[in-house]
Amino acid sequence: MSEPIKVGDLVMIVRTCCEFPLTEGVRMGLPWRVDVMANLKRSRCPKCGFTDSGSYAGSKDIVRPNWNCAPLEWLKKIDPPKLEQDERHDEKITA
Ligand SMILES: [Zn+2]
Repeated sequence: MSEPIKVGDLVMIVRTCCEFPLTEGVRMGLPWRVDVMANLKRSRCPKCGFTDSGSYAGSKDIVRPNWNCAPLEWLKKIDPPKLEQDERHDEKITA
């Protein structure tokens, strides 16, 4: 759970500092794949004063002039869905 987010991971934004980023086009709960990691200049939210770490993950899939990336502290890594089915239904029916 505490593994660092890296390129190729599926992530989604699960929190923001306040409602301001949402009015700027940030969308929560939308999964996207990390294409690039970046260390940016730390930025401060003009509304609540939150200052991010400067560590960002971004996606080329999200085509926006702004907010095509998010600070890592807003992101949650999503485990890839299991493809194989572990559970087998071998229950014997006794007649
Ligand atoms: Zn804020």
